Amino acid sequence: MSDKKVRVRFAPSPTGGLHLGGVRTVLFNYLFAKKHHGDFILRIEDTDQSRYVEGAEAYILDCLAWCGLMPDESPVAGGAYAPYRQSERKAIYREYAEKLVRQGHAYYAFDTTEELEQNRREIPNFQYGQVYRDGLRNSLSLTEHEVNELLDANTPHVIRIKMPADERVSFNDLIRGQVSFETNQVDDKVLLKADGMPTYHLAVVVDDYLMKISHAFRGEEWLPSAPVHLLLWDYLGWKADMPKWAHLPLILKPDGHGKLSKRDGARLGFPVYAMNWFDAKTGELTPGFRELGFLPEAFLNLLATLGWNDGSDQEIFSLDELVQKFSLDRVSKAGAKFDFEKAKWFNAEWIRKVKAESLKPKVKAILEDKGIVVADDAYLLKVIEQVKDRCVLLPDFYQQAGYFFEAPKEYDINAVKPRWTDAKTEFFNLLITKLSTLETWEPAELETTFKALAEEKAIKPGEVLLPFRIMLVGGKFGPHVFDIAGLLGKAETFKRIELGVGVFNEV
Ligand code: GLU
Repeated sequence: MSDKKVRVRFAPSPTGGLHLGGVRTVLFNYLFAKKHHGDFILRIEDTDQSRYVEGAEAYILDCLAWCGLMPDESPVAGGAYAPYRQSERKAIYREYAEKLVRQGHAYYAFDTTEELEQNRREIPNFQYGQVYRDGLRNSLSLTEHEVNELLDANTPHVIRIKMPADERVSFNDLIRGQVSFETNQVDDKVLLKADGMPTYHLAVVVDDYLMKISHAFRGEEWLPSAPVHLLLWDYLGWKADMPKWAHLPLILKPDGHGKLSKRDGARLGFPVYAMNWFDAKTGELTPGFRELGFLPEAFLNLLATLGWNDGSDQEIFSLDELVQKFSLDRVSKAGAKFDFEKAKWFNAEWIRKVKAESLKPKVKAILEDKGIVVADDAYLLKVIEQVKDRCVLLPDFYQQAGYFFEAPKEYDINAVKPRWTDAKTEFFNLLITKLSTLETWEPAELETTFKALAEEKAIKPGEVLLPFRIMLVGGKFGPHVFDIAGLLGKAETFKRIELGVGVFNEV
């Protein structure tokens, strides 16, 4: 690595919710920056006013905060290269576009939208470029006098790059190796629009240069733009400062056929966005991983493994570990298939792994949302410890922990009733009497007492254990039944036994 300070950027356009591929781009930028003690910059690329969506920038910031991937420099944090919103940098770009025109690498184009549309209708595969540019209204086809007149009259115009003929431009991608393009294949992209705003192509090059970006990592879908950017770096005389590029592999549909899209998520029933995104224009809500009940640790872990591995069988990585282990040479060129079952597996593993204390506020919110009052935080912590191994998504805590706070409202009667007998009623009544005499209330002791009574009454423990569980929990789930009773405490256990016996006798 050169001695240039590592400075990377995530440069989203605020056009909607953040696809999981976008968050993976953030993650890889972040990991690389932290690993090399560099800076991670968030730059908002909002020069396309027609695609600007209210609320999208706040959503991106929220998303980075949820994931714990905070930028060192950003529109909110500020920094030495502010402003970090391209719309606020509008005045900077024209100078560079004009310089390119003077050098002959770019030109003014006066064609109206209608004229261009007509060309598109009439000429199959019309491209504004080498083949047609001479027949269109631009500073290459018009005389200097005509051009000056049009400019003096403030005729709306754009500035386009003049793609050179018959050249081959190449760069060394950190993931893909040597990548080359034929300039004849590329059209004359607009650099500066009629409203004076730069397009992405000009702004990304100018800002990567001015912000001293050392490495630029972005999705593979941006690869076709690379030849335009390469030429701009060259024409503007900045080639020696061009960041090292890496184009990250696509995230593919589960069957491996094509890029995973928002529509695939809706079709297959899983989220594709990081967090819920509400489109005020269409009224459409696109679900997110966060609201479905993913932990950020799990979300990042699963994203890291989409296209990267550390060369071993290890799959669970904390963010700190990822910072230590991440390296671009282990990012694959091939697209990574998204597997939602695997994503849930990561979440279950992380729910197991994190401390109950850190789950507490989340679980509390889930329970309270369902109308369960959690008065005792210490009790909630014990409950979380008991059940966290059984939860895959955070809302599972409602089913797995709710009965620790309120007696079941419904019972799995079918599991009990066919085998419910008077002898069992007697057993449970006696059980209360026996357990009342205990001085302490420990699971092991409860179990011994329970089993001793079953033996005394010549009942197989299995015959009474299931009804006992259903009295306490409502169904055939949950941890060891004596652990449940242990936590519920004496009074509550007795109350539920009495309630259960009553219900089982009645139906
Ligand atoms: N503004 C582009 C986007 O929306 C950024 C591409 C890049 O990183 O160069 O993804």
